[in-house]
Amino acid sequence: MNNEEIRIVKEVNNMKQHSKNKQVIIDPICGKRINRNKAHITIAYKNIDYMLCCPKCQSEFEKDPEKYVDN
Ligand SMILES: [Zn+2]
Repeated sequence: MNNEEIRIVKEVNNMKQHSKNKQVIIDPICGKRINRNKAHITIAYKNIDYMLCCPKCQSEFEKDPEKYVDN
């Protein structure tokens, strides 16, 4: 595990003003389309943020991030 390369990005929703861009992103683990605001967690891996829909996807990602990122 390369945990040193993973860091959890805490959502700072209360700091954000009502943003008009409802960005829909794809969960790289399950391929589900999720709304940015509804993501379970945001994980930065090698300076790229990945948003995951649920704790299950999070642990999958943490187990083997290389499998899911574009190189
Ligand atoms: Zn997912």
